[in-house]
Parts: sequence; structure tokens; C-alpha cells
Amino acid sequence: MYEWTEEHQAIIGFVRRFVDTEVRPHIDDLEHNGVPPYDVLRKMYVTFGLKDMAQENFQRQLDRKLGGEPSQERRTSDPAAQMITTIELCRVSPGLVTSLGVSTGLAAGTINKLGTPAQMQRWALDLMTLDKVGAWAITEPDSGSDALGGMRTSAKRDGDEYVLNGQKTWITNGPYADTIVLYAKLDDGSNDDVRNRKVLTFVLDKGMEGLDQSRPMRKMGQHGSPTGDVFLHDVRVGKDRLLGETEEPLGGGRQSAKDNFVAERAGVAAMSLGIIDECLKISIEYAKQRKLWGTAISQFQLVQLKLAQMEVARVNVSNLVFSHIERSLNGAVPTFAEASAMKLYSAQAACQVADDAIQILGGNGYIAEYRVEQLSRDARVLRIYAGTDEMQVVAIAKDLTRP
Ligand SMILES: Cc1cc2nc3c(=O)[nH]c(=O)nc-3n(C[C@H](O)[C@H](O)[C@H](O)COP(=O)(O)OP(=O)(O)OC[C@H]3O[C@@H](n4cnc5c(N)ncnc54)[C@H](O)[C@@H]3O)c2cc1C
Repeated sequence: MYEWTEEHQAIIGFVRRFVDTEVRPHIDDLEHNGVPPYDVLRKMYVTFGLKDMAQENFQRQLDRKLGGEPSQERRTSDPAAQMITTIELCRVSPGLVTSLGVSTGLAAGTINKLGTPAQMQRWALDLMTLDKVGAWAITEPDSGSDALGGMRTSAKRDGDEYVLNGQKTWITNGPYADTIVLYAKLDDGSNDDVRNRKVLTFVLDKGMEGLDQSRPMRKMGQHGSPTGDVFLHDVRVGKDRLLGETEEPLGGGRQSAKDNFVAERAGVAAMSLGIIDECLKISIEYAKQRKLWGTAISQFQLVQLKLAQMEVARVNVSNLVFSHIERSLNGAVPTFAEASAMKLYSAQAACQVADDAIQILGGNGYIAEYRVEQLSRDARVLRIYAGTDEMQVVAIAKDLTRP
């Protein structure tokens, strides 16, 4: 696959119309007035029948689990549709995609993968339909890139229950989440090295005793996606909140976290493409109409070089996205090295293109009205979350040189 089909073009048209009428008019509220993104996202779900599709998708996953099959989502619809939505939303507000992806992908996906049928019904369906908001909490103040080994949030056995203590930080949807998928280290009273302890995955509900969710943090970009801390002070949970109701779920908490990294990293390529496409479009229009010394700046070679490099990035990232879609259709999953390579390249390309767009627009590039400054700020976190650039390099090299 190297370009969108006619059917895809039609989907692009629908999504673009929705974005133009339902997202762009609210961009100031999302960006500057602290309005959470969930109403806009819910409207999109209803408008495109995504809510019904989520219910059907949930039922299929539940049936498979009840039938004893692996519960991982099996591809039943065109993966291009999801990529198109990501790309089109990212032209305007990448934060919306971050919030949506964490709630329906990471939080619901982890529950569906590791949870019992009862746990899926209790929490995952409402997240998949966006009736409820989900968060996925692994990062801690002292354990960002070293998320699993450095984790200090503890789950101490107490009779049939666990007592959770610790803090999670920079958690997307953290301030508003109704449901929080939370990773913690099992403290079974032994003196073994904390780094090597078992990682357990729990599901918490907003309002539980001892659970505090911070206010949204002020941050550089992605204002369309609220980020916050989650604090745990002696939060008591029964086994019904431990995913799989076992300390030995299929693959384990560590493996589940790693599986999520693969999905997230591939998704960042589509997010990057939306930012690149939009910045290039704005830059071309601007360069053609802005006249200096009686000439459009698009005629100046130094501006042309930037436009050409932006186009190279667009072509490369498009190809990554198209090849990912084609492979997904064939049921192929990228290796850890491939997913990390996609993320590393695409995130850096998005940042470079957005920065070049600011340069081409000059002073106007720095002014919010022209929107490339927002896209540049929004792009920057793509090089940090879901694993920093440096951790992608480490992951690629490790995966390639594995014995
Ligand atoms: C907006 C936003 C949303 C987020 N959402 C979530 C969420 O929903 N859930 C969640 O759990 N987390 C979330 N995170 C956390 C995110 O995943 C972490 O910020 C990220 O993993 C990096 O960790 P850190 O910030 O602690 O950086 P650190 O790990 O402290 O890294 C600092 C620097 O050291 C470098 N470094 C670290 N180790 C190495 C090494 N071995 N070799 C070379 N260089 C190294 C890093 O690359 C980086 O440059 C979010 C973060 C942000 C900013």
C-alpha cells in the first residue's frame, strides 16, 4: 500500500469535515481555557458510529476470552480508518489523540488483555465507548525511562487484599480518569531486590479511599490532553482489582507494559504524519503568498530547501504509516526494533518540520493564530513519551543484537 484508496479518501473527507466544524472552533478552549477534551471526542464517537463499533469489538473480544482464546484484539476492521482519524485530529490537536489513545488503547487494551471476563465487563466496555475516561499509570517521579526496574509503588499483601502506596506522575487523563490501570511492585515481605520484584497490574476507580488525582499540570504543549499525578496512600484493593485475579497473569505485568510500548510507538508515526502534513500545507501556502523584494519567498533557495526537506519527511513518514497499515492487514506485528525505529524517526521528523514551518512563517510563525507554534510545542513530547529518543536507540540496538 502506498496511497489511500477511494474509500479511504471518503473517510478522510468525513473526518476532515468533522474536525473543521467540531474541533477547530473549540481549539482556543482546549488550548488556553483548560476545557477537557472528552466532550469533543465523545461527539466524534457518536458521529462516526465508533461507539457502536467499540461495543461490537468489545463483545468479540469478550467472546474470545470466554472461549479460552487469547484475548488480544484481532484485526477485524481496516486499520487505515484508525490511522486516518489519528492523522486528521493531529493536524489540529494532537492532544486529543493522546487522551483518546491512552483511554481506549492503553487502559482498555490492558484490561482486555490481562483481565478476566468479569473485569472486562466491569471496566473495559465503558472505556472503549468513551462513556468513561481511562488512565494508564506506570511512570513515577524517580523511574521514567527505568519504568519497570525503578518502580517503587508497592502492593503489600494483607490477608486477601493488597495495600497500595506510591505516586505516579505525568499520567495522561490522570486528573479526570474514572478508571486507572496502575502498575505496582509486589511487596511480599521478602528481602529480595526491589528491582526484580513482580510487577502487578491493578484497576482503580476514581474516589477510592486513599486515591488522589492531581489537578492538570501546566505544560509546554498538548494542552488538549490533561496530564497529572496520581497519589496512593494505603489504598486497599481486593483480588477483584488485580488483573487476571492472579499474580501470574499470562505474560505478566512486565510483558503487558512492553506490548503496549510497541502499539504506542507505531501510533506515534501516524501522529507525526498529521503534524507534518499540516505544517507543510501551511508553509507552502504562506511561502507562495508572502512577498519580499517583490518576490514570493517560495522563490528563495533557502526557503525552498526547507520546503524540500519537509516534503522528504512527509514522504518517508507516509511510507512508514502505509507499510504499517499493510502489514497490520496481513496480521503482522512490528518487532520492538521496528516499532522503536518508526517512533524515533517520525517524532524527530515532526519536530524538525514544525520548527522549519515556524521559520518559514517568520514572526507570524511565532504567533498563535498561524498555529504552527502550537503544532511545534505539541510535537515535542513525541520525542519524550512512550520512551524517549535515547531509549528508542537503546531498544533498537538491543533488539537487533539479541542472542
Ligand atoms: C505529556 C506527557 C504525558 C505522559 N503520559 C504518560 C502516561 O499516560 N502514563 C505513564 O505511565 N507515563 C506517561 N508519561 C511519562 C513518560 O513516559 C516519561 O516522561 C518518559 O518515559 C521519560 O521518562 P522521564 O521523563 O522520567 O525521563 P528520564 O527517564 O529521567 O530521562 C531523562 C533523560 O535521560 C535520558 N536517558 C535515560 N536513560 C538513558 C539511557 N539508558 N541511555 C541514554 N539516555 C538515557 C533520557 O532519554 C532523557 O533524555 C507522560 C509524559 C509526558 C511528558
